Amino acid sequence: MSNPSERRPHAVLIPYPVQGHINPLFRLAKLLHLRGFHITFVHTEYNYKRLLNSRALKALQNLPHFHFETIPDGLPLTDHAVNVTQDTLSLCKSVRDNFLPPFRQLLATLNHSAIAGLTPPLTALVSDFSLTFTTQAAQELALPILLFSPASATSLLSIMNLRTLSDKAIIPLKDEGYLTNGYLDTKLDWIPGLKNFRLKDLPGYIRTTDPNNFMLKYLIDLADNMLKASAIVINTSDELESEALKALSSMLPSVHPIGPFPSFLNQSPQSDLESLGSNLWKEDTECLEWLNKSKEPNSVVYVNFGSITVMSAEKLLEFAWGLANSKRPFLWIIRPDLVIGGSVILSSEFVNEISDRGLIASWCPQEEVLNHPSIGGFLTHCGWNSTVESICAGVPMLCWPFFADQPTNCRSICSEWGIGIEIDTDVKREEVEKNVIELMLGEKGKQMRQKVMQLKKKVEEDTRSGGLSYMNLDKVISEVLPKQN
Ligand code: UDP
Repeated sequence: MSNPSERRPHAVLIPYPVQGHINPLFRLAKLLHLRGFHITFVHTEYNYKRLLNSRALKALQNLPHFHFETIPDGLPLTDHAVNVTQDTLSLCKSVRDNFLPPFRQLLATLNHSAIAGLTPPLTALVSDFSLTFTTQAAQELALPILLFSPASATSLLSIMNLRTLSDKAIIPLKDEGYLTNGYLDTKLDWIPGLKNFRLKDLPGYIRTTDPNNFMLKYLIDLADNMLKASAIVINTSDELESEALKALSSMLPSVHPIGPFPSFLNQSPQSDLESLGSNLWKEDTECLEWLNKSKEPNSVVYVNFGSITVMSAEKLLEFAWGLANSKRPFLWIIRPDLVIGGSVILSSEFVNEISDRGLIASWCPQEEVLNHPSIGGFLTHCGWNSTVESICAGVPMLCWPFFADQPTNCRSICSEWGIGIEIDTDVKREEVEKNVIELMLGEKGKQMRQKVMQLKKKVEEDTRSGGLSYMNLDKVISEVLPKQN
């Protein structure tokens, strides 16, 4: 610590340890740091090792008042020294069973370090909302706890209603037939804030017949835990989700939309922090050079299914030929583990067909790509980060939701904001081709582009100095995370 007598407020931030949760909490850490906080950011040992290989973390290690700590994730390593972080069920079980003791130990160490005058005393915990053990740790030390939702307000609201849906015997499903007999179209508009909502728009985890389904229980526990927070902060804005936010505020103690972060950070003063990311995969920057090379504005389709979504080899081929047959230029990010049970094999016929207009890479700096002037559309799995990053870049979407909160986000994108077109789960190449052409060249695509540009401007207003999200963050800092005296 450069000057212990400075007495900065000290926030300990801990994400649920996957990419889509790390990124937005890391952005919040940067925002708090810019506002004068001493930051301790807690990674799992496994993820920290992966981050050490990325350019981001090396630069961060010498930054004053921004420190990293690690705890084990309790997951076994495979022969290739890879653990099963990508397996949501195993990770959630390990979070529930293994994370509290090492986290408690870490907080004790930080307290000792504060007593020794090496770091400022702890002011508050800022925890991902899917980690319920952090609330217990905060209670034990009588620290305030901010629960952070990297998911949308609408997703959070649907999670808050799962217990009621279960009490009414609407979920879990009676039998497998309910997945296909139209039951998922059941309207849920009696739930305040979920106007025109259907069962199929809820988190994918409700599509189970098992009354003891672990993930469903995990979500219901998480909802109960939200009631114990000092405050809840969400990576969204009033412009995007006013109805859901209103409904949440009537259920939860203190709800603050403080995002969306991409837009927020775009407007922050330049600092060493600005360019630092938190990617677990190594970025392939060649794609930016490729985009720079004489691509027309708004001409390229960007395709990325995020960090966890997987698909069969058959579905991948439908996307591949749909993209090729659309004759539009495209940049497609294919993670090494995107295809279930094997690596990606694309025929030489396909590779020849796309050689002059398609580029495939394994991971990219997504925000930079989305903000590149050549990008005109985004084929996405509808993760909430991808959704808000696309809005903040003014890019309309084709939506292929896979699991978790993605159906909920897809509904907001297509039905609520009118800035996307949904692709059927059982994707076919003809549908991909038709919708890519519509997105890039059609009248509907043009309208969606206009709408997303309007939305981009509005969220920028929310995150600008004096805007609602900006003021909410200041309010949280002054009321819940008071500065040390
Ligand atoms: N991301 C990235 N490069 C990639 C793929 C993803 O930087 O090639 C980032 C993306 O910008 C976003 C996060 O990883 O911040 C993915 O989060 P999201 O909520 O969209 O989806 P998830 O991975 O959680 O399904």
